[in-house]
Amino acid sequence: MLSLAEYVAKASSKGVPRPGVILAIRMSILAMKLLEIDDPAAFHRKLIVVAETDRCLPDILELVLGCRLGNRTLKFRDWGKMAASFLDVTRGRACRIVALETVEPEAVNCFNHLSRDDALAEAYRVFPDERLFRWTPIILNFRPEDFPGYPADRVLCQRCGEGIAFRREIRRDGLTLCRSCAGETYWEL
Ligand SMILES: [Zn+2]
Repeated sequence: MLSLAEYVAKASSKGVPRPGVILAIRMSILAMKLLEIDDPAAFHRKLIVVAETDRCLPDILELVLGCRLGNRTLKFRDWGKMAASFLDVTRGRACRIVALETVEPEAVNCFNHLSRDDALAEAYRVFPDERLFRWTPIILNFRPEDFPGYPADRVLCQRCGEGIAFRREIRRDGLTLCRSCAGETYWEL
């Protein structure tokens, strides 16, 4: 595990990091502490993370923990929360960490000689974990098809004909349907 400053340097090759980047790094480091993971690289495909928002959080989870959408160890649930869940597959342990909404007013109050962004960045650097986050052990109910290495065999949607992998099909009225044809579509023509 690198230090906070080393991760911040890695994440800020293109300039000064946004405060949220520092917070996401702190969250990743806390997750490693809670799950007693010192070297995330040794957990290749055995550490699965669920990010509950986009923007910088998934990028930092990838940078610090090596979890990626591309190897199925980073999941995305778009709930708009600065929160993530972490599963150590080897030991079957999981925790969820959420950033506290109280941090921002505390940071602005504590570092009132700084701009809002600088105050946040400073708070995210120096506040103890307990002041930044709430965390709890959880059970993560993944199915076999959610794990890396599950065969990517496809079935065809009986309405649109498109292929569906990882058992994401829905069976309804005797038909095998993709989520879009089953009514969960996010697009229209
Ligand atoms: Zn379909």
